[in-house]
Amino acid sequence: MNLLPVWQQDIWKTLTHDGALRSHAWLLKGRRGIGKYRFANLLAKSLLCARADPQRIACGQCASCNWFEQHTHPNYKLITPDAMSLAMVQNNRAGVEGHSAETRLQTAGERKTKPRVGQQISIDQIRDLDDFVYLTGHQAGYKIVLIYPAETMNTPAANALLKKLEEPPENTLFILVTHQSQRLLPTVRSRCLQVAMPAPDTETAVQWLLQRWPQQADAQKSTEPQRLNKQQDAHRLLALSGFSPFAALPLLDTMEQHRQFIDAVSTHGRFDPLTLAEAMQKQELTVTIDWLQKWCYDLAAFHAAERVRYHPFLEARIQSQCQRINLRACLSFLQFLNARQSLSRHPVNERLFLEEIFIQYGRLLASGSAVPEFEE
Ligand SMILES: [Zn+2]
Repeated sequence: MNLLPVWQQDIWKTLTHDGALRSHAWLLKGRRGIGKYRFANLLAKSLLCARADPQRIACGQCASCNWFEQHTHPNYKLITPDAMSLAMVQNNRAGVEGHSAETRLQTAGERKTKPRVGQQISIDQIRDLDDFVYLTGHQAGYKIVLIYPAETMNTPAANALLKKLEEPPENTLFILVTHQSQRLLPTVRSRCLQVAMPAPDTETAVQWLLQRWPQQADAQKSTEPQRLNKQQDAHRLLALSGFSPFAALPLLDTMEQHRQFIDAVSTHGRFDPLTLAEAMQKQELTVTIDWLQKWCYDLAAFHAAERVRYHPFLEARIQSQCQRINLRACLSFLQFLNARQSLSRHPVNERLFLEEIFIQYGRLLASGSAVPEFEE
């Protein structure tokens, strides 16, 4: 069962052993970054496998498993927005493990490769399923359609899917995976067996992260302070990801860069927008803005309720910065940042775009008791 994180083992048993298979459509719902897509993917592979083990987990060796891994299984269809499938293919090529897919749609526009690739699942993608679901599959076997993230279906696509759910094709299972089930048509939701995907508690998530921490060559000799540092880093990444372990794992790669970024934006009196823009220009724009949004969110949250969400280990620094800016200015800047984030996939000039954001942030830092106007 080690293919599944500990918080998914019970739900796996329920879905594979308790007659849930009699339903023709499942809706797996839950917050981002808890491993829903990876779970659904393993589920599809396992249900199609010819020699699944007693826990019903795919063998990884039969012809079906091979087809599945090569993305050529005749009885399996994955439906995602075009932008996302592009990112998934590219990440697969780069050898990135599928398990961080859930975090990827946020950055999946892949701005540098092709602008304005579809961010939605279209009606054509659902219509194209007709032959697959209504004609006989390979050896008349079981067929699976995985739709992810299901909330990205536009209304015509959702209506086209609804017709299929109302007259379910034989031997076909639809698995819908969503972070935002409230955005699905209620009629689609009600046609599915709804499954609330469990999320881990903080300690479980930290342990899971630590098990995946890169092993150092001298791991045996690691000292107590090093062990505690690692644990603190795991807590830090988990908080920064909004307590989503699968979203926290990829942050390991940029942990040092993030530390430097926070040092730059939280240092009083020495903030230099142009130098920071230069330092950040190699990183995906959406990620940099996301970091600044989280930082400013914590400034506002501390102002309003003396709470921080994303940077629990930096409360003292946040408190000190809060003394120099007021809540309204902070909220106004956050609004500006939100508007910029939605433009960030297609900037005319990335460097200028970033400089402008940091210059505005510099104005926030220098605002004192005033509330500057941040043009959106
Ligand atoms: Zn197999």
